[in-house]
Amino acid sequence: MAAAPKLIRPASLDAALRARAKGPVAVLAGGTDFFPMQMDLATGPVLDISRLPGLGEIADQGDHWRIGAALTWAGLAKAELPPAFDGLKSAGAEIGSVQIQNSATLVGNICNASPAADGVPALLVLEAEIEVASTARTRLVPLEAFISGVRKIALAPDELVTAIVIPKAASIGHSVFQKIGSRRYLVISIASVAVRLVLKDSGEIQVVRIAVGSCSPVACRLRDLEEALIGHHISQARDIIRAGDFTPLSPISDLRATASYRLEVAREIWSRAGFMCEGRRRSWLSARSLR
Ligand SMILES: Cc1cc2nc3c(=O)[nH]c(=O)nc-3n(C[C@H](O)[C@H](O)[C@H](O)COP(=O)(O)OP(=O)(O)OC[C@H]3O[C@@H](n4cnc5c(N)ncnc54)[C@H](O)[C@@H]3O)c2cc1C
Repeated sequence: MAAAPKLIRPASLDAALRARAKGPVAVLAGGTDFFPMQMDLATGPVLDISRLPGLGEIADQGDHWRIGAALTWAGLAKAELPPAFDGLKSAGAEIGSVQIQNSATLVGNICNASPAADGVPALLVLEAEIEVASTARTRLVPLEAFISGVRKIALAPDELVTAIVIPKAASIGHSVFQKIGSRRYLVISIASVAVRLVLKDSGEIQVVRIAVGSCSPVACRLRDLEEALIGHHISQARDIIRAGDFTPLSPISDLRATASYRLEVAREIWSRAGFMCEGRRRSWLSARSLR
């Protein structure tokens, strides 16, 4: 039987970065992807970052929100955040079970780079940037550039993701996340959609961000559709979809669904999510007026 890999549990981020700089070391956060998928392949040491001080929080930092790399989905659910984060929280509430959400981190979801990672579309509509650090430097990479393909991320062997950064300018409005799988709970998405909307009082769309997951190697924004919707009333949103608006998607047929079904689902849940988003905004406005 092969010897168990050495587990490194550094006491600080600096120590973790030094361990990464020394040579190949696998990174472990909540382990909910790592153990089922990578543990058997791990030959060298494993660096556990789940208990690093200062990485388990989400903090308001003036012009942005900073989500630490060890923040779990359960931790996110408890955080007081503006309504623009509701979609991200809904995505987290559907990741596995409560036990999974207690261990699994948002950053692990991104770094695993699965086309079906539910956190990715929800973070794309918040225009997330990824903070990456090594002993030499710290850099910010837009999420869209960070995940470059299936299981591929823009991370050098000596780097760690330290945080997700959400600009305050992208934290306005209301958001919704919807996913469809082959059953209601504990399911990998066949298609998922995240929407963030900023509406004028008249119901006219001022800002809209739409991202679709599980329908392309990497979840992606539908920028043409976003642009086409600006200035229209939310009630017209469904009628505005044109044939080419979903062309950034390239769904595959697999054991879970056919490509054409995935595309149909993406269109349908986008319309539902748009209207749900408007519903949330109305409830929020009436709750605020009662205060
Ligand atoms: C039963 C079950 C159900 C699930 N359901 C869902 C679901 O519905 N939707 C969904 O999207 N996912 C689901 N998952 C997948 C998983 O739970 C999520 O992707 C989770 O967010 C991963 O986080 P983690 O902290 O456990 O990552 P880990 O498993 O610890 O790590 C995942 C990958 O990210 C790397 N990594 C982690 N942190 C860093 C860092 N800071 N810097 C660099 N690399 C890093 C690791 O090296 C590894 O390659 C499920 C998993 C299980 C076991």
